[in-house]
Amino acid sequence: MQEEYDIVVIGGGLVGASFACALQRQGLRIAVVEQFDLLKTGHACYDDRSVALAYGTRVLFELIGVWERIAPEAAPIEKIHVSEQGGFGVTRLDHAQQGVEALGYVIENRLLGAALYRHLDDRLQMDFFMPAELSGFRRENDRVSVHFVHQGRECAASARLLVAADGAQSRVRDWASLRTTTKDYGQSAIVCNLTPEYPHESVAYERFTGSGPLAFLPLTDFAEAGQPAAPRCAVVWNMPHAQAQQMSVLDEGAFLQALQERIGYRLGRLLHRGKVNVYPLHLVKAETTVSPRVALIGNAAHTLHPVAGQGFNLGMRDAMALAELIATAAGRGEDIGGEALLQAYAQSRRQDHRRVIRVTDILAQLFTFQWPPLRLARNLGMLVTDTLPGCKTLLARSAMGLDGRLPGFRQ
Ligand SMILES: Cc1cc2nc3c(=O)[nH]c(=O)nc-3n(C[C@H](O)[C@H](O)[C@H](O)COP(=O)(O)OP(=O)(O)OC[C@H]3O[C@@H](n4cnc5c(N)ncnc54)[C@H](O)[C@@H]3O)c2cc1C
Repeated sequence: MQEEYDIVVIGGGLVGASFACALQRQGLRIAVVEQFDLLKTGHACYDDRSVALAYGTRVLFELIGVWERIAPEAAPIEKIHVSEQGGFGVTRLDHAQQGVEALGYVIENRLLGAALYRHLDDRLQMDFFMPAELSGFRRENDRVSVHFVHQGRECAASARLLVAADGAQSRVRDWASLRTTTKDYGQSAIVCNLTPEYPHESVAYERFTGSGPLAFLPLTDFAEAGQPAAPRCAVVWNMPHAQAQQMSVLDEGAFLQALQERIGYRLGRLLHRGKVNVYPLHLVKAETTVSPRVALIGNAAHTLHPVAGQGFNLGMRDAMALAELIATAAGRGEDIGGEALLQAYAQSRRQDHRRVIRVTDILAQLFTFQWPPLRLARNLGMLVTDTLPGCKTLLARSAMGLDGRLPGFRQ
């Protein structure tokens, strides 16, 4: 006996859950199959990993009515300061010059996920299978039959569309025989949260160092039990694998000193560091994002280097573009998993994918070269960008995710 749905989503991570939020008022039957129990989010902790949301992503969350749940937990980025260690160039972006409340926001993944699931919980249009793991799927005429193991039991569901939001190692993508191109950057990202002496004043620092790009992102203050709230920044530091391994095992004092040498004293002394995590960095790009009855969104379609903080933002635009096409097709009584809709989705996302992947890929490599003429050109580039308002606006709009068409979907 198969349960019948309009859509089955594999993967209830940030992109899968955002997609479900976008469609929850469309009268469609949706199932979300997720291998971890994300409905139980646990308590926020100092070390939670975070994500920088572009301003354009905020606009999308507003359109689907979720932003007001996210906003109280999100730290605004009012200014961005880009520089190179030992260089003379600097580029500064300011929210006031761009006429927006903030250039972006930083929020812990756990809190963003919890806000999305609270929103989904309010309307009971959907079935969540968690923890559950996909075991296979088969296309049958105008439907797809999906098999998964939920709490140790074999389950089956049938749907008109299977949406793969199952991340970088997407099984759906592999089983649908959608080919990928991959690139190993030979780098890892060191990620941790830390407390500086001075408040961050909502400034994000992007600093290019000899070992790789380093980002200090403003986070909400955090209070350990019985302690007053202290300022907190999220650090993402990219460097060659071997160096990242060495850095990750340094004790707190040596680690903070190494960081302090790179960032300087803009934030005063670096006082405390939380747990350090290391992520190897690859580019994974699906050659096409659709196959019969299947669409890829988020990291299943593209996994990026984090240097520009664009992975989730790009995935959110996938989710919204697909949701917009589905809502329109459903309203007209058309097939929501048919070839026409899938091709329209793939076509609508191609340019944004190409552009963001290209820019991220260039940035990931550009600042690793220390050849003096290239350093000079980079620093001149930063200075010119800082002095020419037109260049600055172009850069700011790109960082805010506003340089392409935003899906116009509204609930
Ligand atoms: C160090 C670092 C920093 C980053 N910073 C930023 C940033 O500042 N801004 C930004 O926009 N992006 C950033 N990113 C990228 C961002 O984290 C990802 O793009 C985003 O989280 C992808 O979300 P997703 O839902 O597509 O995939 P995932 O988060 O990987 O979610 C996939 C989900 O599918 C589930 N799943 C997988 N396989 C199965 C299966 N077989 N059955 C059932 N469920 C399954 C998983 O459990 C998971 O919950 C960063 C990435 C890294 C590594």
